[in-house]
Amino acid sequence: MATRVVDDCELCEAARFTHWYYEDDICWVADCEACSTPMVVWKSHGTDPSQEDVEWMLERLKAAGVERFGPEVGSIDRTMRQVPEHFHAHLRDAQWLSRRWTETPSKYSGVGGDRILLK
Ligand SMILES: [Zn+2]
Ligand SMILES: [Zn+2]
Repeated sequence: MATRVVDDCELCEAARFTHWYYEDDICWVADCEACSTPMVVWKSHGTDPSQEDVEWMLERLKAAGVERFGPEVGSIDRTMRQVPEHFHAHLRDAQWLSRRWTETPSKYSGVGGDRILLK
């Protein structure tokens, strides 16, 4: 399936500011700029990835969660608050709400590299 990209969508833009855990032809996983928890984003603009792609993306998100928080921490949140028209999901641990206020954000240092914090 062809990837659909629109101009005025921040998820299509896929700006690399924060840490990126993973990227392939289907999706990318990075720290969300707003809440600093891992977020998987479908590379195509829309809300209807195939079930197979959804499962693939959620597995990649879980892997990023294990990398970040350790095994069995947090849960997947598929509510699309900020960009309801583009499929994405967050992995939220118990501290996710306070994280943006208490934690230094990460910065981009290549896909799958060390997670480096913004100074
Ligand atoms: Zn977020
Ligand atoms: Zn989009």
